[in-house]
Amino acid sequence: ETLDKGLEKTKTSFFSKMTKAVAGKSKVDDDVLDNLEEVLVSSDVGVDTTLKIITRIEARAAKDKYVGTDELNTILREEIAGLLSETHVGEGVEFSIPKDKKPYVIMVVGVNGVGKTTTIGKLAHQFKQQGLKVVLGAGDTFRAAAIDQLQVWADRVDVPIVKQKMGSDPASVAFDTLSSAVNQDADVVIIDTAGRLHNKVNLMNELSKIKRVMQKVVDDTPHDVLLVLDGSTGQNAFEQAKQFTKATEVTSLAVTKLDGTAKGGVVIGISDQFQIPVKYIGVGEGIEDLQVFNKHEFVDSFFS
Ligand code: GDP
Repeated sequence: ETLDKGLEKTKTSFFSKMTKAVAGKSKVDDDVLDNLEEVLVSSDVGVDTTLKIITRIEARAAKDKYVGTDELNTILREEIAGLLSETHVGEGVEFSIPKDKKPYVIMVVGVNGVGKTTTIGKLAHQFKQQGLKVVLGAGDTFRAAAIDQLQVWADRVDVPIVKQKMGSDPASVAFDTLSSAVNQDADVVIIDTAGRLHNKVNLMNELSKIKRVMQKVVDDTPHDVLLVLDGSTGQNAFEQAKQFTKATEVTSLAVTKLDGTAKGGVVIGISDQFQIPVKYIGVGEGIEDLQVFNKHEFVDSFFS
């Protein structure tokens, strides 16, 4: 039910737009499809993904000769569910990490303000709840506030944090964090990084250096490169995903702030376009307001 609450604004806005899109129409025709296209684009599903959905519905309408607008919701639900199935979107139900990787290392990337620190704190809390030993690494050494805020979360969740002075080498912080985690026999390491997109070459170099140095301590790390995107920024989130996937190999996504926005459709578009699983969604500022993303629940919640 938290998911329903988190998606409330997206749903309300989507349904009122859908109602307008089919008003006075009983048959799905070109006009209705045009309107539907507008609804999806304005719900931040993204142009490419919207066109994919429209093309499928168009084909269905052509094949079946007559499709009533009263069926449109059901059809849309099926098409979106199908689309999400083709992408490897998260199907998880609980927070978990592979048992054969210890420590399991998550490197978190994303620009400032998207909810990176909050997501790290919430994740640390979830893992700790399961009895896992968590260590945080304050790898965003570019801003003093980033280190301080991560410290606040470390205190709140009561997990150790490894940090250095502002301006120190993030790779060195990552090295220390992993060494400390190995010494403590920790289960999970979550490393924060700075996300300065305006300097792409630097970003790329910095992230690959962090990876290289971490691999001196634990083979094949990081196990997960989690990109945090602010769902309320719609198209900016797409742009950031584009930039970060160019700079490093992103293996999963967290989409935050879905509670405060009508732009929740972004989850559908981003997972379709980048073929990277949305693993977590943020639905509030509280410590418990992070959920494992599950596509079935998402579609159910959207269309119920
Ligand atoms: P960072 O700069 O990327 O580390 O961003 P922060 O973690 O400091 O978050 C920026 C702001 O967004 C803070 O005020 C957070 O409380 C807020 N925030 C983060 N995640 C969510 C979320 O899922 N929902 C809401 N409503 N606010 C969030």
